[in-house]
Amino acid sequence: MLAIVLTPALLLVHWSLSLSYLLVYAAWGGATQCRGCKRLFARVGDYSKVVDVESGYETVTRHDEVRAKTGDFFDDIQGGKRVGTIVRQEQVHVTYTTRRHYYSCRHCDHTWTERKTTSS
Ligand SMILES: [Zn+2]
Repeated sequence: MLAIVLTPALLLVHWSLSLSYLLVYAAWGGATQCRGCKRLFARVGDYSKVVDVESGYETVTRHDEVRAKTGDFFDDIQGGKRVGTIVRQEQVHVTYTTRRHYYSCRHCDHTWTERKTTSS
């Protein structure tokens, strides 16, 4: 016979999960709010067009593992094992794409646009 015991810890987990769903729900509602009639979850429209493309560089941190190779002086002790990590920074090429998104409201006739930039 299985019994689920709701301990205070479980209740807390459950409560914080519900809270995070609520936060996501509220954030999504706010993001899709109509600027005209102020209703939530009103945004419709998926059309967007590219208005700007720029290229640039970003610095990323790489962690390279250094492993003992066969034949190394200390192979018997650490062969194949990680003996260290080299942390280095690298410049990577990125493309910033700015799109203008066209939205409209499902309740009133308000329309608006938003610019969003993504990097890839
Ligand atoms: Zn509206």
